[in-house]
Amino acid sequence: MTDRTDLQGLSLDTLAVRAGIERSQFGEHAEALYLTSSFVFKSAAEAAARFSNQQPGNIYSRFTNPTVTVFEQRLAALEGAECCIATSSGMAAILSMAMGLLKAGDHVVCSAGVFGATVQLFGGILKRFGIDTTFVSGTDPSGWQAAMRPQTRLLYVETPSNPLTEVYDIAALAEIARRGGALLAVDNCFCSPALQRPLDFGADVVIHSATKYLDGQGRVLGGAVLGKKEVIYEGVLGFLRTAGPTLSAFNAWVILKGMETLNIRLQAQCASALRLAQWLEQQPQVARVYYPGLPSHPQHALAMKQQKSGGGIVSFDLKGGKEAAWRVIDGTRLLSITANLGDTKTTITHPATTTHGRISPEARAAAGIGDGLVRIAVGLEGIEDIQADLLRGL
Ligand SMILES: *Cc1c(COP(=O)(O)O)cnc(C)c1O
Repeated sequence: MTDRTDLQGLSLDTLAVRAGIERSQFGEHAEALYLTSSFVFKSAAEAAARFSNQQPGNIYSRFTNPTVTVFEQRLAALEGAECCIATSSGMAAILSMAMGLLKAGDHVVCSAGVFGATVQLFGGILKRFGIDTTFVSGTDPSGWQAAMRPQTRLLYVETPSNPLTEVYDIAALAEIARRGGALLAVDNCFCSPALQRPLDFGADVVIHSATKYLDGQGRVLGGAVLGKKEVIYEGVLGFLRTAGPTLSAFNAWVILKGMETLNIRLQAQCASALRLAQWLEQQPQVARVYYPGLPSHPQHALAMKQQKSGGGIVSFDLKGGKEAAWRVIDGTRLLSITANLGDTKTTITHPATTTHGRISPEARAAAGIGDGLVRIAVGLEGIEDIQADLLRGL
């Protein structure tokens, strides 16, 4: 943390530009970029003291790097977390959490509507190492309770979910986890701490893909695991330092600059997303709009309790199925046809044939992802231009 400022009580906007800064002897104003793999010691005795943990300080950038440390402290301040460790990507964050906190024989309960690679990680890779995962569909906490086993050590949820924006009750899931002797981890990628702070509702761990809203400009990959000291330092940190999926100093520096504008970007993106969702509800070709900020959303009240607003992602079903969905996507000239999200540039994607294309048609149908579904991650362009671009294919 900065040595001059007590961060207690400062607003999110202030923390996003100020938290974590530690200036060098040169007194640089902006965050410094330390591109160095190792750090030099004054003597053999100092090296020995650092390596044996008797003296704090940097040793090697797989363990710590000053630029990465600024990123960790800033994100921890935004999420209200005791500890944060940065990882090379969002998936590396989920893997590091799992490797740090779980062992063979443990059981995980996970929402069915999580990021595709997360399904493959829990359902495929970790299964080979003896960790069993039950995927629960539906937002009703009773389904999670029913999936609990004596061996359950982790509940894992993304809220709102991708691409259907289902909202899960974090406090209810935290209570189920606590009673079962498990931890609750929330992937907060869709909201970021600007809209939702899962630890405030009782979650134990927060996962981030910093690739999305934290960078916010589609430039670099990054991730983070946040939570209490005993969970993060005693569990996850050892895996990260030994196995090495650490965040690069350069990426940390880029993401730090993105975080400075996180709140104003998201406020603008959420305002546009709400207007777009309302407008889509008026279009005769649109069968259904999925957006937590709309009163028609099934968990609208819960979303407004947990989140500051509906978020930047809007999905909608077209009456004409895949053909109609592709016509809208191919009709765009401005929007980017790409699966990434959280960028200042609006992106449009057809989940059934891209992000969710590799799962079976039955599993896709069970997850509610129809052939007519289109997902838009709203950027910072003028809303009229986004609407005009969509109207061509509508
Ligand atoms: C993108 C994403 C991830 C994975 O993050 P990467 O940085 O691409 O590894 C995890 N969860 C959610 C919700 C995502 O959107």
